Amino acid sequence: MILVMKSELNRRGFLGGVGAAAIFGANAGTLLAQSTMAPGLAITIDDFDLANSPLMSGEVRDAAIRECLKRHGVQAAGFVSGKFIDPELAPRILRGWSDEGHVIGNHTFSHTYFSGSDPAGFMEDVLVCEPLLSGYASFQKLFRFPYLAEGRTAEGRDTMRGLLAGHGYRNAHVTIDTSDWFVDNRLRARLKDDLGADLAPYRQFYLDHLWERASYYDGLANALFGHSINHTILLHHRLTTALFLSDAIQMFRERGWRIIDADKAFRSAEFELVPQALPAGQSLLWALARTDPQLATGLRYPGEDGKYEAPKMDALGI
Ligand SMILES: [Zn+2]
Repeated sequence: MILVMKSELNRRGFLGGVGAAAIFGANAGTLLAQSTMAPGLAITIDDFDLANSPLMSGEVRDAAIRECLKRHGVQAAGFVSGKFIDPELAPRILRGWSDEGHVIGNHTFSHTYFSGSDPAGFMEDVLVCEPLLSGYASFQKLFRFPYLAEGRTAEGRDTMRGLLAGHGYRNAHVTIDTSDWFVDNRLRARLKDDLGADLAPYRQFYLDHLWERASYYDGLANALFGHSINHTILLHHRLTTALFLSDAIQMFRERGWRIIDADKAFRSAEFELVPQALPAGQSLLWALARTDPQLATGLRYPGEDGKYEAPKMDALGI
C-alpha cells in the first residue's frame, strides 16, 4: 500500500527534490537515497535443460556458469522444470547449486503455458515438481511461471494466485525479461553448420541485447517508482549463458550497476506488489506499467520475443 502511494506521488513529481523531505519527514533521507540508487541486477536462470549443445556438454556448460558466478562473487537463483531432471546428472548439478548458495526455485514439472484455465491442474504440476527440488538446502518456495504466463483471465489469474499462496509459494518475478534463448537458438544453429564459427558477433549482439532490455526496464522502474530497483534478469541454462554471462556481468558493473544476490532482490519491497494487468504475467514492471494510463500506451505484447530480435540478427547475418 505504501509503495502504491509512493508510486502515485512519484508520477506527480513530488519526490526527487526537497519536496520529499517536507512530505516524508524522517523517512525522506531513505527516499532520497532511493531516488539516486544505482540499479541492482540479480541473475536468475530458468529451465535447466541439461542436454548437450555444440562446444559444451550440459555438465561443462553448468560448470562454466557456476564458475562464473563464483568468480564474480554472486549468488543466483535457478528455476528448474522437473521434466529436465534426469536420475543422474541433474541431481549432481543441483547439489552443486545448493552447496554454493544459489537459490533453487520451482518452474513446474511440465513447463506448460498457463492460459488461466484449469488452475487446479496447473497447481498439481507445480506440486509434482516440488519433491524433486525440496531436498536441496537452498530450495525456496519461489515460483516462476513458464513463459512468464500468469493467465489471460482475471478468474484464472486470481485462482492461481490463491492456490500458490495456499501452498506457501511466492511469485519469483522477473523485472528484466530478455530473448537470450533466441540468441542461443541462432548461435547453436550456426555452430551446428560450422563448429569453428566466430563467436564474437553473437557475443556482441547478446551484450547489446541485455543492455538494451535492462535499460528499458530500468526506465520503467524509474517511471513507476521514481528510482531504480533491485532487478531480476531472466536468462536460461544455455550455451550463451555459459559463454557470455561473465562478459555481461562485467559490462553491467562497468556501467555502474550493482550485481546483487538473487535472494536480496526477491526480498525487495517492489516484489510484494500484485499487478492487476491482463494478460497477467510478463515482467513485473511491464505488468505494473500496463495499468498506468501514461505508461500503458508504450508497451508491446509480449514484452519480449524472438520476433523482435530476428530482423536485427538477420541484418547482421547472424
Ligand atoms: Zn522456462
